[in-house]
Amino acid sequence: KAKGLGKNQYSVYTDEMGVKEVRKMELEKDLQLALEQRQFYIEYQPKWNVKMHRMAGFEALLRWQHPRLGTVTPTEFIPLAEETGLIVPITRWTMEEACRQCKVWQSQGIGQPVSVNLSGRLFHTDSLIDMVQSALAEAALAPDMLELEITESMVLYDINEIVRQLEAVRQLGVRVSMDDFGTGYSSIGLLDRIPIDALKLDRLFIGDLESPSKRAIIKAIVLMAEKLRLDVVAEGVEDKEHIDFLTQLGCHVMQGFFYGKPMKNEEIADWIRSAGAGGALQAAKESGTG
Ligand code: C2E
Ligand code: MG
Ligand code: MG
Ligand code: MG
Repeated sequence: KAKGLGKNQYSVYTDEMGVKEVRKMELEKDLQLALEQRQFYIEYQPKWNVKMHRMAGFEALLRWQHPRLGTVTPTEFIPLAEETGLIVPITRWTMEEACRQCKVWQSQGIGQPVSVNLSGRLFHTDSLIDMVQSALAEAALAPDMLELEITESMVLYDINEIVRQLEAVRQLGVRVSMDDFGTGYSSIGLLDRIPIDALKLDRLFIGDLESPSKRAIIKAIVLMAEKLRLDVVAEGVEDKEHIDFLTQLGCHVMQGFFYGKPMKNEEIADWIRSAGAGGALQAAKESGTG
């Protein structure tokens, strides 16, 4: 009987690590099938331009509806997809689906661009340009309706190759933004080398806006971005205080739970009609930024 055993008879730690390991192996094993069986879906999160009182696009965030384990987040399965190389077909699917959806929005009068996240792993292969071209062509979507989000961690890969591929997609008219800016490696030096159109200030970075030094850094980034003719988007905007600080600092485009959580496609039309867009606009006005 369990009662007779010492409380620490079994190491909880070892057990937990075992569970995690097993889960990882299971997810890794199921990833290929997930793609074949269409277990992935996308949630879209709005970006909002506070100054113009209007939307500034949607970001496509991938989800995996695992038949047994439920919804698995991208922070868990993207690294596995990178390890196994499945990141290439998974990104292709995501891009195609996002472009198709963006085209449908257009036909519904929602003329918003969509952004897709890229893993650095993609630049290992030569598939990006092809992937972008065929996703746009299949959806009959204008290139300026697609944006790609890359991260600073990509410097771990061959930078010349990244620059070459990004230049090629920008030639098509597709926009590129640097995601999670301010938390990764050698950010500022990179701006001079990597061809981009916008910076996304990382959520953690704007988390503590009371701190004078954080505010000074954000202000400097916004000024620098202006000089470099880059747009700035703040991530992780959760409350009015964030909005006030950010607009004072000259950052006008925001994304975060305050404006809207990532949503399934069915929820978007509703969000636009009611609470979402109207509420966000109202709140911006109340906070004195409208
Ligand atoms: P990200 O691109 O920086 O996306 C923003 C993440 O922050 C999303 O998490 C989003 O749900 C969350 N978020 C947005 N607003 C708020 C907020 O106000 N507060 C808080 N606490 N969180 C907020 P998610 O969807 O779990 O995605 C995590 C990361 O996974 C993404 O970070 C992105 O790097 C990666 N990812 C997502 N989809 C894909 C994909 O299709 N391909 C690749 N390669 N990576 C993806
Ligand atoms: Mg992103
Ligand atoms: Mg981000
Ligand atoms: Mg982030």
